[in-house]
Amino acid sequence: MEEVKFCSYCGKLTSSCYTFCPWCGKSLESKTDLAGVLDKPFDKMERIQVEERLEVLEKLESYLDSLEEELEAFLAKSHH
Ligand SMILES: [Zn+2]
Repeated sequence: MEEVKFCSYCGKLTSSCYTFCPWCGKSLESKTDLAGVLDKPFDKMERIQVEERLEVLEKLESYLDSLEEELEAFLAKSHH
């Protein structure tokens, strides 16, 4: 029996007799739909984590820069 359902990608009305959405061409299989729904928040979370790590790395980098300056100043002093 033909069932009416909405495409989870474009939100348009389709029918369960289609394997692919006639509007946007994405797969209408529920397995793929679920994976697509789950993928998106994980993508977002991963991106936030990467951004946080990049921020930490930037801070570490500037900290190392200032350490290097201190070390150079210390070495310059000890040579005289
Ligand atoms: Zn669609």
